[in-house]
Amino acid sequence: MDHDDLAHWSKRAADWARDYHRGLRDRPVRAQTPPGATAARLPAAPPEAAEPMETIWDDFQALVPDAMTHWQHPRFFAYFPANAAPASMLAEQLANAMAAQCMLWQTAPAATELEQVTVDWLRQALGLAPRFTGTIHDSATTATLSAVLTMRERALGWAGNAQGLSGQKRLRLYASAQTHSSVDKAARLSGIGQENLVKVPTDATHAMDPEALDAAIRADLAAGHLPAGVILCVGGTGIGAIDRVAETLAIARAHHLYTHVDAAWAGSAMICPEFWALWEGIDGADSIVTNPHKWLGVQFDCAVQFLADPAAQVRTLGLRPDYLETLGQSDVTDFNEWTVPLGRRFRALKLWFVLRAYGLEGLRTRIRNHVAWAAEARDAIAALPGFEIVTEPRLSLFTFALGDDAATEALLKRVNDDGRVYLTQTRHQGRFVIRVQVGSFDCTHADVMMLPRVLAKVSGAA
Ligand SMILES: *Cc1c(COP(=O)(O)O)cnc(C)c1O
Repeated sequence: MDHDDLAHWSKRAADWARDYHRGLRDRPVRAQTPPGATAARLPAAPPEAAEPMETIWDDFQALVPDAMTHWQHPRFFAYFPANAAPASMLAEQLANAMAAQCMLWQTAPAATELEQVTVDWLRQALGLAPRFTGTIHDSATTATLSAVLTMRERALGWAGNAQGLSGQKRLRLYASAQTHSSVDKAARLSGIGQENLVKVPTDATHAMDPEALDAAIRADLAAGHLPAGVILCVGGTGIGAIDRVAETLAIARAHHLYTHVDAAWAGSAMICPEFWALWEGIDGADSIVTNPHKWLGVQFDCAVQFLADPAAQVRTLGLRPDYLETLGQSDVTDFNEWTVPLGRRFRALKLWFVLRAYGLEGLRTRIRNHVAWAAEARDAIAALPGFEIVTEPRLSLFTFALGDDAATEALLKRVNDDGRVYLTQTRHQGRFVIRVQVGSFDCTHADVMMLPRVLAKVSGAA
């Protein structure tokens, strides 16, 4: 295959993509294939001789699409969305064509500067203070790990990277039980340890209780431990829990702790000023992560981390061996010093394309529709016999149950076997509940209102 062939097949791939997207509503959302089915249809050994692209293409069509769960399906209400707007897909093709390694300014000047500019555009759109700069990671998990490593180094007076953690006091992190498992992972990978991630009790709204946070920090100080940082959640994955940002940050600040806010999903909604009250006080955070690759339409991977002062993170993650020096340029930004991996994809391009191709107004309209339609679906589900709304909508996420855990789980299985919609579960206060989130880039009112109809049908209520 050469570049002439690539041009030919790219056109076919683009046509296929259009038809695939047009036909999505006719497919079951969740893959209906059993484990092992795809592998069983593949040869066990790789080909010795080159195969014609036509054969490879035919096999792709025969083997792959029907064995996929369709994340771009307009009735994907599971997990959180991983949207890929057409403008984002186009930008990815261009980034693929250049296949640049964007580790240094010098290795990709336009990528570095587009990253600076688009992150600042997003900052403005989210209503964050001008003091925030930022960078783009592959995932919120990596951004949170970066923030936790920074907490560790700052608390240790920058000694951890050099000397390791042995002989140090016990470092302590604080978050509520509603925060995502990426926070647990960061506690583990940073060497701080799962047992030193204090899960602070929550209040009646499932927000971290600021007084309990204060008490936990004081107890740790009294025990001779070393508090390092607080991780807040704005839109937790389970039920969309939102911490009381201003009050919680104030406690952290009083103890001189570094703060990171995980708004991986809900952050995108903050392009709508009417939601800013949900994270009132956010400008006091040291670090914030939000994933345009969830709700905003920029495809995976694009996790934006905003930093009030990048110096602490750069001091934690940055290394500059001789072979990465940019000779004769001292005032450029080398983004590898802000992130865990050295290698970096050109992720800003798709953010740039999406912000321009849809405009903030186009993106806001989608998010506002999703929030309004989620509320409407909630009401329709609440009206079905036996159905109970367990947690009320947080933006476009709510949970429900039908009777006990076994009955709810059986319902979930029937819904996903039906295939017209896709839902997933979580546990809330020990109870098995079904999550609904509305956030697919191309979903319509009719798509969302099919959800209560499917639930009525499979539960026998209709
Ligand atoms: C999705 C999500 C994450 C993890 O995001 P990745 O980018 O997949 O690492 C973390 N926190 C919250 C609140 C999320 O919704």
